[in-house]
Amino acid sequence: MTSQTALQRRIDGKRDDLIALTQDLVRIPTLNPPGENYREICEFLRERLAPRGFTCDLIRAHGTPGDSEKYPRWNIVARHEGARAGDCVHFNSHTDVVEVGAGWTVDPFGGELKDGKIFGRGTCDMKGGLAASIIAVEAFIEEHPDFAGSIEISGTADEETGGYGGVAYLAEQGHYKNVQHVIIPEPLQKDRICLGHRGVWWAEIETHGEIAHGSMPFLGDCAVRHMGAVMHEMEESLFPALALKKTAMPVVPVGARSSTMNINSLHGGQTEPEPDFTGLPSACVPDHAKMIIDRRYLMEESKAEVESEVRAVLEKVASERENFRYDLNEIWSVEPTMAPKDSAVVTSVAKAIGDILGKEAEYVVSPGTYDQKHIDRIGKLKNCIAYGPGLLELAHKPDEYVGVDDMLDSAKVMALVLVDLLLPKDLQSTAR
Ligand SMILES: [Zn+2]
Repeated sequence: MTSQTALQRRIDGKRDDLIALTQDLVRIPTLNPPGENYREICEFLRERLAPRGFTCDLIRAHGTPGDSEKYPRWNIVARHEGARAGDCVHFNSHTDVVEVGAGWTVDPFGGELKDGKIFGRGTCDMKGGLAASIIAVEAFIEEHPDFAGSIEISGTADEETGGYGGVAYLAEQGHYKNVQHVIIPEPLQKDRICLGHRGVWWAEIETHGEIAHGSMPFLGDCAVRHMGAVMHEMEESLFPALALKKTAMPVVPVGARSSTMNINSLHGGQTEPEPDFTGLPSACVPDHAKMIIDRRYLMEESKAEVESEVRAVLEKVASERENFRYDLNEIWSVEPTMAPKDSAVVTSVAKAIGDILGKEAEYVVSPGTYDQKHIDRIGKLKNCIAYGPGLLELAHKPDEYVGVDDMLDSAKVMALVLVDLLLPKDLQSTAR
């Protein structure tokens, strides 16, 4: 590492500001579901950014899943114009956090600072990343007010529940038409560039039977036994085949470099009684059973292929069992996405990681999806990555935290990316 530039020193000088900003964000409990305090966090961001020269639009995603008068889906897009025309660099962070869960030893919404770490729900995923991007952008604008183009910071709703009231809505409104580069500061680690994510195919399988008295099951047809045959066939043929399919995508953890399928749930027969019900079940043959599957797929696969594999399992069982009837319905799907390694934002972040951290960037792909899907598919922008501080393994866990030094380092990387993308080339050598 070479000596610090003025921009890097300026970011170090904002350490206390960065800590306080992260704590303030964590103390607004934006739990999703149901989607609490979205308006409050957008107002907070407006109060932060408007006095610093940002035009702030608060946008409610009317009519999207979960949007109601009680829980409106509010988003903010803050935009700062440069001194002349140029590209727009957009930092997108989701403002929602998942439920708290058990096992905490600190106040989940306290934002406690201990040993250089800030603790709380959403510190790592991803209010720390949001705070780091704000500090990076503010430092860059203070240091280089004459930059070309524009910078946007968005805080969006509902990433944890699909992103329809957040980034998907902004993309549908045409927001990404005038954006050239997107960085999503999700907690992928300060020295990694996340190029994209695997695809998703959620489906429901239903087997049908016939109700009868449980003492004479031969007079009915047990849907649960039919489903058992489906599971047996999955174990025999589908799961081994999926494990053999490998991808060239650099997915981490490595276990996710093949196709995977999770059986999300299984229900058959009578619904579970209320916990306070003290009676016995009635004697019935179940006439239906349902399974939800969560299939994650690779760039090398197509959704049609993924569906036909499951259908082949069901058809095989149908050919072997009398009266076997089934339905197979898709519930939700997301195509895999991956930014090309030579795209502008990827090469720029890689260079900045080299400069700031003195090491080569690691390229990764996320096993699960995040809002990049909407920027790619709806916004039609491939030049988009996830890059931000924090360890993905801590996301959604008790005692989640983000390291202050990690936030500062990633803020320096993000600020240097702005130098690269928004400063005229002749000014860059001194600014780097
Ligand atoms: Zn996240």
